[in-house]
Amino acid sequence: MLTRRKFIGLAGAVTGGALFLERGMAQGARPVLRKPIGEKPLICPYCATGCGMIAAVQGGRLVNLEGDPDHPINQGALCSKGQAARGFVQSPYRVTKVLYRAPGSDRWEEKDWEWALGRIARLIKDTRDRGWVEVDDQGQVVRRTESIATLGTSVGSNEEAYAMSKLFRALGIVYIEHQARICHSSTVPALGTSFGRGAMTNHPIDFKNADVILVQGGNPAEQHPLTFRWILEAKERGAKLIVVDPRFNRTASKADIFAQIRPGTDIAFMGGMIRYILENKRYDEFYVKHYTNASFLVNPEFKTATELDGLFSGYDPEKRTYDTSTWAYQVDENGQVRTDPTLQDPHCVFQLLRKQYERYTPEVVSKITGIPVEKLLAIYDLYSSTGRPDRAGTITYAMGATQHTYGTQHIRTYAIVQLLLGNIGLPGGGVNALRGHSNVQGSTDFALLYHDLPGYLGLPTGDKPTLEEWIASRVPKANYAPSANWWQNYPKYFISLLKAWWPEVDPKEAYGYLPKLSPHKGGIPDKSADYSHYAIFHAMLAGRIEGLIAIGQNPANSAANANLARKALDSLKWLVVVDPMETETAAHWKRPGVNPKEIQTEVFLLPSAVWAEKSGSITNTGRWAQWYDKALDPPGEAKEELWILTELVQRLKKLYAEEGGPNKEAILNLSWWEHSEHMAEEVAKEYNGYDLTTGKLMAKFADLRDDGTTACGNWLYCGAFTEEGNKMARRDPRDTHPLGLGLFQNWAYAWPANRRILYNRASTDLKGQPRNPAKWLVRWNPKEEKWEGDVPDGVAPPDKALPFIMLPEGVGRLFAAQLKDGPFPEHYEPWESALANLISGQDKNPVCKVWVGDLDVYGTPEEYPIVATTYRLTEHWHTGMMSRNVPWLLEIQPDPFVEMDVELAKSLGVKNGEWVRIKSARGEMKAVALVTPRVQPVKVGDKTLHQVGIVIHWGYQGGNPGDSANQLTPQALDPNSFIQETKAFLVRIEKI
Ligand code: SF4
Repeated sequence: MLTRRKFIGLAGAVTGGALFLERGMAQGARPVLRKPIGEKPLICPYCATGCGMIAAVQGGRLVNLEGDPDHPINQGALCSKGQAARGFVQSPYRVTKVLYRAPGSDRWEEKDWEWALGRIARLIKDTRDRGWVEVDDQGQVVRRTESIATLGTSVGSNEEAYAMSKLFRALGIVYIEHQARICHSSTVPALGTSFGRGAMTNHPIDFKNADVILVQGGNPAEQHPLTFRWILEAKERGAKLIVVDPRFNRTASKADIFAQIRPGTDIAFMGGMIRYILENKRYDEFYVKHYTNASFLVNPEFKTATELDGLFSGYDPEKRTYDTSTWAYQVDENGQVRTDPTLQDPHCVFQLLRKQYERYTPEVVSKITGIPVEKLLAIYDLYSSTGRPDRAGTITYAMGATQHTYGTQHIRTYAIVQLLLGNIGLPGGGVNALRGHSNVQGSTDFALLYHDLPGYLGLPTGDKPTLEEWIASRVPKANYAPSANWWQNYPKYFISLLKAWWPEVDPKEAYGYLPKLSPHKGGIPDKSADYSHYAIFHAMLAGRIEGLIAIGQNPANSAANANLARKALDSLKWLVVVDPMETETAAHWKRPGVNPKEIQTEVFLLPSAVWAEKSGSITNTGRWAQWYDKALDPPGEAKEELWILTELVQRLKKLYAEEGGPNKEAILNLSWWEHSEHMAEEVAKEYNGYDLTTGKLMAKFADLRDDGTTACGNWLYCGAFTEEGNKMARRDPRDTHPLGLGLFQNWAYAWPANRRILYNRASTDLKGQPRNPAKWLVRWNPKEEKWEGDVPDGVAPPDKALPFIMLPEGVGRLFAAQLKDGPFPEHYEPWESALANLISGQDKNPVCKVWVGDLDVYGTPEEYPIVATTYRLTEHWHTGMMSRNVPWLLEIQPDPFVEMDVELAKSLGVKNGEWVRIKSARGEMKAVALVTPRVQPVKVGDKTLHQVGIVIHWGYQGGNPGDSANQLTPQALDPNSFIQETKAFLVRIEKI
C-alpha cells in the first residue's frame, strides 16, 4: 500500500501533464485577449454568482481587472463590486504586518511571524488540553475540547476550508462555525429533507429557461446582479416575473406583478398558494403521483395544525419539543411504506396536505400578509400555470426567506409548491437558493459547521463508540421500491475520509480520533448538543470558551445582537484574527465606549492574502467549483491561509511530540502538506481522493471503497481533480446541450459528478422519455441503454430507480417528518411581532430556540411599534470590510440609512436625508432617513403598521465608520438550523 507522500510524488508526475493539456485546451477554446502583460483568470470574491474575471499584472502590480468575456455566467460583465475589486486588492486599509495587542494594552505592536505563530501554537495547546472532555456527563467517550472556538470562512477557497476542517477536527474542536450558519443554514435542512440535498437545485444561467420566476425573500437585481441578467433574459423570451418583498426594490422594478408583504408572513403567503393549487387542481398529477410521497399513508394518529389549533400531534409544552412517533409512515411487514395511489385515503399525505392548508384562504392570507386578495389570486394563478409538463417555474430567494424563527419551514413551502407543480428536476425549474458569499457553498460542503464532516457525513456522536455502530446508524433502509437509496454508500465515503486524514492508521482506530457530539437529549435548548454560532457567544460570555480563531469572519458586526457578541469577545483570554483588514472583531478592545485597560484579551491580527494573491477553487451558488490562479504576491508580510495553517500544524505536531497531551495521536498522525507553490492543488487532489493501492487519483465517487484502500477527503468533489487533470480549471465556453440550455459541462466542475441540474430524471416519464420534448434535459436511450444530456441523477435505467436518489423513499417529500417543528410548514408570527397570529392560537413557533438573559431581551409592540427588516446594497458587502475599505464603493454609498414611508416620516417630523436614532430592546444605531414610497405602511384589519428597512454594512472600523444594524437584531433562532431572526423585529425611531 502506498503512503500519501509516495502517492503525491507519483500523482504529481502524472497529473502535471494532464493539467497542462487541460489548460492548453482551454486557452485554445477562448477568444484570445492579447495584452502585453500577464493575464490570469480569477473568480469574483464577492457574491456567489461566480463571475469570471481576467487580471492583468505588470511588475507584480495588478494593473487591470475586468470581466472574463468567455465566462458563461457573466460574459464579460461585472457589477459595481466586481468592477471595484481591484480597489480591494489595493485598499489603503490592508494590514501588511503581524499585529499583537497585549492584555489590557491600548495599542497594537508589530511582531514577526515566528514569534506570533509560536505563541499561538502554545496557547492552542494549553487551552485545548485544559478544556479537554474525554467523557461527557452521560458517560460517553467524546474526546473533544470545549475551550476553543473557530469561525470562518465563506470567502476563502475550498482548499482552505478543507484544511481548516481537517485541522480543527484533529484538535478535537467542536465549536466550528462559519457564515453559512447565519445566512443560509435553514436552506440545507429544508431542501435536504424535501429532495435529498441541501443546495441550489439549478444554477444561475438556468433562469433563462423559466416561464415564470417567483422572487420571494431575495433581491437579485441588487445582490446577485449577474444572476439577475439571466432572469432578464428569460423575460425577453416571454417569461413573467413575480416579486414578493417588503420593499419595492430594483428586482421589483422589473416585475410583472409586485406584492408588498408584511415581513415574516411568507409561510402564510405560500400556504395560500398550496391551497390554491390543490383546490383548483393546478398540480401536475403524474408528477405528484409518481415522484412525490403524496400517496404515502401516515400513522392515523397524526394530526395536522388545522386540527390542533397551530400545533401538530405529539407536542410537549414543558419540554417545548415534539414526540414525532405519530408522524411516521404506515409500513407493511417488510418495512415498505403503504400507499393509496388514488390519493383518496384520509391518512395519505395528499389529503393531509389539503387538511393542513384548508384554513389558508385568500381572505385569511390577505389579512396576515397585507397583500390584497385580488393580487394574491393573480399571483397564485400565474405561478400555478407552470403545473404542466410544457411550462417551468422557478422560485429563488435569499436571506429574506431564511432568517426567521421558522426559516427552514419557509423554504419547505417552496419545495412543496415546486413538487406539486412538477417543477423540480427540469430546466427553468427548481428551488434556487442564492448564496451571498463567494464560497459559502464550498465552506458548507467542506463542513465548517459544528455538526458535520466534509460531504455532509455528519460528526459522530458519543453514543456510537465504534466505527461499526456509527456506520450502522447512518445507513438508511430503502422503504419504497425502486429507490437507489444512495446513502447506502455512506461507509465508503466515511472510511475514505478517515483514510484521507490519517492514511497510516486503521479506520477503526482513526474513528476514535474524531471528536464526538453528545446526542440530543430532546429538550430545547439543549446546550450539550449545540455548538452553533450563537452558542459560541454564550459560551464565551460564560467563560467556557477561552480562545477564538476567526479566519475571514467578523462576528463583532455580523452576529445578531452585536452588542452581546462584542461583549463576549471581551471575555476571551485570547483571540486570533486572520484577515487582510483590521476588522471590528480584531479591534473590539478599542471600540467606542470601552476602556482597553479593562479588556484582558490577548489579540493577534495575522495579515492574510486576498483571493487574487493565491490559487484555489471556490464553489458558486449553482455548485460550480471554479479554479482561479494566483495573480500576484500579497503585500508586505501578508501570507496565504494555507501557509499560516501549515506553520501552525508544524508547531503543534512538535509540541505534542515533545510534551504529549490528550488524544495526541490525532495530531501526530494527521497527514499534512509541504509548503509549495502547488500546495492548493495537492490539497484538491486529497479531497478528490486517490487509490491507496495504485496512487492514482480517483475518477469518480462510485469507485470509492469501504475496505480502507481508497482515500477521499470529500466524496462530493470526487471527480473534480482526476488523472485527466483539474476539472475545476476547465474553461471551454461552449454549451454542451444540443438545445442550448446552458449546461456548459466543460466549464469548471459541478458537484455531484458534474451534474448541472439536480434530480434531472424527474423531467422524464417512467420510461425515461422527456415529458417536455421541446426542452428535454435528460433522456434514456433504450438502444444504447444509457442516459443522454445532463449527467443523470443516477445512472440506473428508468425502471430501476426513482429520481430522488438521496432519499430512502426515492420520491420528493411533501410531508417531511425529519424537522423539529412539524412535517408541514405552519404560519407563526416572528418572535418580536406587532400582531397576534390570525390563523391559530399558537402565536410563535413552539419549538424555536430563544436565548433569554440580561443581554438577550425582547421588545413589545407598545414600546417598539415599527416592524424592521435588514438588507444589503449592491455597492457594499456584508460587514463592509471588503467594500467600505474600497474607496470607489464607499464614495457611491457613504452612510448607513433606513428606508421609511412618507407617512411615518411625517409623524416623526423627519425629512429625507436627516439623521435618526433607531432603537430596539437590545441597542440603538444612527442612520440617515431615506423617506420613500418604496416602502408603504401595511393595513391589517383596522391597524396600520409601519415597516422600515435598514442596511447592514457599517461598523466602527475601516472607511467611514458607522453603526451596525446588528446592534438592533435579536438572537431568536430557528430550531432546525439555529439561524437568527433578523428579517422581522421591532424598533422605534427618533429624530436626532
Ligand atoms: S458581486 Fe456577484 S454579480 Fe457582482 S461581479 Fe461579483 S460575482 Fe458577479
